Amino acid sequence: MQRRKSRPVRLGAVTVGGDAPVSVQSMTNTDTCDVVATRAQIGRLVEAGCEIIRVAVPDQRAARALPDIMRGLEVPLVADIHFDYRLALAAIDAGVDGLRINPGNIGSRDKVVAVVQAARQKNVPIRIGVNAGSLEKDLLREGVTPEALVQSALRHVSILEELGFYEIKISLKASDVPLMLTAYHMLADKVDYPFHIGVTEAGTLFAGSIKSAVGIGALLWEGLGDTVRVSLTGDPVQEVRAAYEILKALGLRRRGAELISCPTCGRTRIDLVRIASEVEQRLAAIKQPLKVAVMGCVVNGPGEARHADVGIAGGIGEGLIFRKGQVIRKVQESLLVEELMKEIDHIIQGRNGDEGV
Ligand code: SF4
Repeated sequence: MQRRKSRPVRLGAVTVGGDAPVSVQSMTNTDTCDVVATRAQIGRLVEAGCEIIRVAVPDQRAARALPDIMRGLEVPLVADIHFDYRLALAAIDAGVDGLRINPGNIGSRDKVVAVVQAARQKNVPIRIGVNAGSLEKDLLREGVTPEALVQSALRHVSILEELGFYEIKISLKASDVPLMLTAYHMLADKVDYPFHIGVTEAGTLFAGSIKSAVGIGALLWEGLGDTVRVSLTGDPVQEVRAAYEILKALGLRRRGAELISCPTCGRTRIDLVRIASEVEQRLAAIKQPLKVAVMGCVVNGPGEARHADVGIAGGIGEGLIFRKGQVIRKVQESLLVEELMKEIDHIIQGRNGDEGV
């Protein structure tokens, strides 16, 4: 796949756009003023592989919490501001690595200038986040259209460009996937700023992950998208896991284990659903790239999953452990998961010298 050439933008140590890998981001859903809860959630997000963290800054109390939230933080933090320029200035002052604010919503020109000057001084990029649910009224004559989303983004862009500010990322989000896809396509021909992509208000874990995979996956496959957020109603850690699954499925990132498991059929004679779900949970702790197969039968299993690094294939009350399609031993059903994990441990120890999983 040929990725769109975008202008690189830096958020702390992370580059978005240019030749940088597509980064994964998420947003905390704790009360930003609750520093302990927010730091704990950020810790879980970082552990899951989140590379950029966004927090809502709805008021000055939240802005005052930012320095404590950022203390010792190893990933860039973006402050999400709706329109209050004083909050944007306070967040920049607190040392955030990025801002999400639409300059057209800030108000008078001197307020926009103040935010842009502060952002420039501290090398803080600005994400313009256009959302289908909050478009300017004059753009809605024909309803919410891709043209209206693009038009809105270009207005915000031109405000920043007129002030000589080019450290910009853009998102055009909608919960309607075809609308979102068309809008990003249209904008791709008009600007070279990196794209933050996602399907907004995608839904709960199951439906939202599928909708996001379709929308984000379609854009990425066509080379559009520099940083990704999956928006789910639920634990943001699941957003990070879903984002990596999308990126791994397209071969854009390699992180952690990839589980291949068969759908089961009339040949299955072991409790494969339970085994696959237990293996999935145990693999969550592994950060190295690894393909693990959980297959229902010995007839087709190892052959179907020969590209996996390691796997199991069920028999009757027992199963086989195989590596790269070659059977290495037979194990009782009750010990299959344990033996598989031992094999995985050997593989990782072999790669790391002696560091273990
Ligand atoms: S691997 Fe075996 S059990 Fe699983 S779907 Fe294929 S044939 Fe059926």
